[in-house]
Amino acid sequence: MSPAPRQSVLLLLDPGSGVTHLADPGDPVLTADDRSAHRGDGIFETVLVDAAGAHNRRRHLERFIRSAEALELPRPDPAIWESAFDEAVQAHRRAFPEAAEFSVRYALSRGPDAALAPRGWFLTAPAPAEYARQRTEGIAIGSLDRGTPAYVGKDAPWLLQGAKTLSYAVNLAAGRWAAQHGYDDALFFSHDGANSIALEFPTANLVIARGRTLLTPDPGAGLLHGTTQQGLFAAAEAAGWTTAYADLRREDILGADAAWTTSSLRRALPLASLDGEELARDAELEREVFAFVHPDLAPEA
Ligand code: PLP
Repeated sequence: MSPAPRQSVLLLLDPGSGVTHLADPGDPVLTADDRSAHRGDGIFETVLVDAAGAHNRRRHLERFIRSAEALELPRPDPAIWESAFDEAVQAHRRAFPEAAEFSVRYALSRGPDAALAPRGWFLTAPAPAEYARQRTEGIAIGSLDRGTPAYVGKDAPWLLQGAKTLSYAVNLAAGRWAAQHGYDDALFFSHDGANSIALEFPTANLVIARGRTLLTPDPGAGLLHGTTQQGLFAAAEAAGWTTAYADLRREDILGADAAWTTSSLRRALPLASLDGEELARDAELEREVFAFVHPDLAPEA
């Protein structure tokens, strides 16, 4: 049986010159000695695009540049990456005109061992289908010890906390642990015994509500600063809500009025339970938060 056709387009980018070309997404385009392939030595972003355009586009590019700095990769030229991004979006729209929303994942690798000439690419894909159901049902999450204390990144910058690197094997292992234990996702906590605080999910952030106050863990504690969380906070503040970064204990999540996992493709999914304990849901808060992160939230220019 031949494999299902990919609903993707692949655009290759030479990050130095800005030269791009479209390739077949099924074609082998990296050599086996590419540092991204055998070391995870590179960075990436995943952006949601819908009829209104690309969400949090500027925040993604800013984080990409910060990630490059953390890995001491050549600084991505914003004009080159913006222009290639537009080209990938247009190519996807041409190839799949019926696609309501899709993702654009862009990446920068340090390049092959032989030359270390950095290379970039853009791969588009349909948005995952399961999030629509989880948006109403909510998700069951289990807690996991991340194995490092909170705020350790300040003294250990080589951990690259806060950089979105291509080394996601640990994140994927946590996702498998969650599935094997009957959870939809895993929530990492810091390795601090009784003082342990919540950090993030393997590919998403945590946001909780106390009334119309939204709280999320401090990125400095050792997590990725989410573009969705930042966009949500900006929209909520504009609507008169209060927002803050805070150290959140397990009890804070159990005592919240509502809680979500946020990421570019999930936008915001409500949390239904933590380690089997039911979490509060609030239909009105969920409706308002949904409006902040859904099409009503105008994408940034
Ligand atoms: N934390 C991690 C580890 C992630 O991989 C992601 C996104 O992929 C997020 C948080 C959420 O970030 P964003 O909202 O920018 O997608």
